[in-house]
Amino acid sequence: MSKTDELQKVKDEVVGITSDLAAFRREHAYLPVIGEGSSNASIMFIGEAPGENEAKQGRPFVGRSGQFLNELLESVGIPREEVYITNIVKDRPPKNRDPKTDEIELYAPFLDRQIEIIKPKVIATLGRFSMAYIMNRYGLSSMTGPISKLHGQVFNTEIAGEKVKIVPLYHPAVALYNPGSKEELQKDFEIIQTII
Ligand code: URA
Repeated sequence: MSKTDELQKVKDEVVGITSDLAAFRREHAYLPVIGEGSSNASIMFIGEAPGENEAKQGRPFVGRSGQFLNELLESVGIPREEVYITNIVKDRPPKNRDPKTDEIELYAPFLDRQIEIIKPKVIATLGRFSMAYIMNRYGLSSMTGPISKLHGQVFNTEIAGEKVKIVPLYHPAVALYNPGSKEELQKDFEIIQTII
């Protein structure tokens, strides 16, 4: 099966999922947000969950934090269409609340499959939820800690026999309202640029 077909299969399964968030999606005629970008991307960005704009368009990071993510990518000369952007949770939580543990558990296997299909060399997590999930899932649980300490560090691991670098980043939405983390996020993007 081609990568595109495998990604389509993931999409079809998420579309048909039964969960409270999927029920909320159907009630509001929202779309699931599976992810977008190159299926051969060497870098994958993983956010938390779609917001309202994302759920209306079925695309990740298209609202204010997406605008900021686009600016960050542009500032280091990485075209958005060459990366892959997704979230752990594929349906919008009501009122943009934090995802619950059981919601992360339900949707994370789809993320794992996206990682195995795309085989990125670098995984940049956006925010503490995707940082915690990815580090615990891929052999870095002994190195976890607060995002204020880990952001911008490069952690080496292996996924399905391939070397992968994990880089925790602040979530752009947090950085938008916090000048300190905004500056850190901008600096961390320069680190990303040097390792891809
Ligand atoms: N915040 C996220 O974590 N993901 C999106 O897709 C949009 C906003």
